[in-house]
Amino acid sequence: RSKEQGRNCYLQFDSSMLEHARERMEMEIMLREALERKEFVLHYQPKINMLTGKMSGAEALIRWQKGENNLIYPNAFIQVAEETGLIVQIGELVIREACIRCKEWHDQGLTDLSISVNISASQFHKQDIEELIANILLETGLPPYALELELTESTVMKSPEEARVVLKNLKSLGLKISIDDFGTGFSSLSYLRHFPIDTLKIDKSFIMNLDSDHANAMIAKAVISLAHSLNLKVVAEGVENNEQMQFLDSEQCDYAQGYYVSRPLSWDKINEWIK
Ligand code: C2E
Ligand code: MG
Ligand code: MG
Ligand code: MG
Repeated sequence: RSKEQGRNCYLQFDSSMLEHARERMEMEIMLREALERKEFVLHYQPKINMLTGKMSGAEALIRWQKGENNLIYPNAFIQVAEETGLIVQIGELVIREACIRCKEWHDQGLTDLSISVNISASQFHKQDIEELIANILLETGLPPYALELELTESTVMKSPEEARVVLKNLKSLGLKISIDDFGTGFSSLSYLRHFPIDTLKIDKSFIMNLDSDHANAMIAKAVISLAHSLNLKVVAEGVENNEQMQFLDSEQCDYAQGYYVSRPLSWDKINEWIK
C-alpha cells in the first residue's frame, strides 16, 4: 500500500498477514500430524467410455479423514500442502495407493481399468519424479499403461522446456499424460501439441453450464474436434445430467466423468458400484 494511505493501513495489513501466516502454520502442523496418523484416504470417481458405456477407469481424489465424521476435501488443504512442500510426501502416498488399488482390479481380471492421479506443480518439478514413479510401478506391479498422470496447463507452462523433458521421460515409462482443467489456463492447443500428451480433460466449468450457456457448448464442441484432429482423447469432467451426456455423445467426446455417472466413492463403495 502507498504511504499516503497512512499508518493505520500498515497496521491493518500487518495483522491480516500475521493471521494468514498463523493459519498456514497451524494447517502445516495439522497436515504433518495427519500424515503420521495416516488420515489421508483416496476416493475414486469412475470414468465412462462413451462409445461402449463401460467404465474405463477412475480418478483417485484425496480426502483427509479427520475424525470419524469429518471428511475434508482437497480444496481446503492442497494449497498449503503445496506451499509447504508437504505435497511431495502426500503425493507419493497418493501415487502408491492408487497404483496398489488399480493392481487389485487387474488381479481380479479387470485389466482394462486405469487409474488417474493428480500431480501438483511442485511434485512435477521435483527432480526425481520419473524415478519415483518408475519405482512405484515396479513395486506394485501395475502395468504402466494403466497409470495416467493429470497435470494442469499451468504446471506444464511454468517452465515449458523442463516440462517437455520430464514428460518425455515419464512417457518413456509407458504411462499416459492428461491435461486437467483444460480451458481455464492460458495455454493453447497449438502450443500444447508440442508436448507428449494423450488426453485433454475439459474443465467442468464448461460442461456444467452446457445447457444454459451456448458459448460454453461451442467451446466444448471446438475443443473436442481440435483435440481429435491432434490425436488426443477427450474427457468431459463435471457431467451432471443426461442432456450434457447427450450433447457430449453427439460431439463424439471419448469419456465422461461426473456426478451423473457417479460421485467419487470410497474404495469399498466403488467396488460395489462396479459389481
Ligand atoms: P480435479 O482433478 O479437477 O478433480 C475433479 C473435481 O471435480 C473433484 O473435486 C471432483 O469431486 C469434482 N467433480 C467431479 N464430478 C463433478 C460434477 O459432476 N460436478 C461438480 N460440481 N464437481 C464434480 P475434489 O475431489 O474436491 O478435488 C478438487 C481438486 O483437488 C482436484 O480437481 C485436484 O486439482 C485436487 N486434488 C484432488 N486430489 C488430489 C491429489 O491427490 N493430489 C493433488 N496434487 N491434487 C489433488
Ligand atoms: Mg484431476
Ligand atoms: Mg479437473
Ligand atoms: Mg483442478
